[in-house]
Amino acid sequence: MKVEAASHTQTVTATFVKGVCPICGILKQYQAELIESLSPEYACDPCNFHCWTLANSAVGSIAASIYRRLLSEDHQDNGCKLCAQIREEEETRVQQLARELQEGLGIDWMSHYGTLCVVHANALKNHVALRLRPVIDEIVDRNMNELKQQLQDYSTAAEHGTGSGGGVLGRAAGFLVGYRGLSS
Ligand SMILES: [Zn+2]
Ligand SMILES: [Zn+2]
Repeated sequence: MKVEAASHTQTVTATFVKGVCPICGILKQYQAELIESLSPEYACDPCNFHCWTLANSAVGSIAASIYRRLLSEDHQDNGCKLCAQIREEEETRVQQLARELQEGLGIDWMSHYGTLCVVHANALKNHVALRLRPVIDEIVDRNMNELKQQLQDYSTAAEHGTGSGGGVLGRAAGFLVGYRGLSS
């Protein structure tokens, strides 16, 4: 079963938002749409991460059916179908973004304001022409320096017992491992 996200036909460039890795942003939305559109009969062997995602989703009947299935049949680990579909979307979208950047689409914006997590920066580098690899490295370096500064400000404020951090720890984690909706 393949679920097409509503945003599937959009260019990746059109989803650019400051401070968010575009691939992570797309995958987060894809996962939400995927889970919303699952039918109640859908049963899979969710990974731990997606067990919790399903259990916390508003679609109670699906979570219930998956748990029934887990309880009533021999549980064989065939891999999580949700992870598999998200990985497929991830690969498609990384290749799409590589093509768009190579055509010059969004490259200026990306190099000045863009964000890429380490995971997707590395994936992109495998798909773009050699000349674009240093541009991607520069984006990651800029993101890293911004985060270092924010983390420094956060620690200084914490030492003085002030400031909530404004989500800087979440941004640092997202930068390092991506918000991909994947268990690993
Ligand atoms: Zn990412
Ligand atoms: Zn999973």
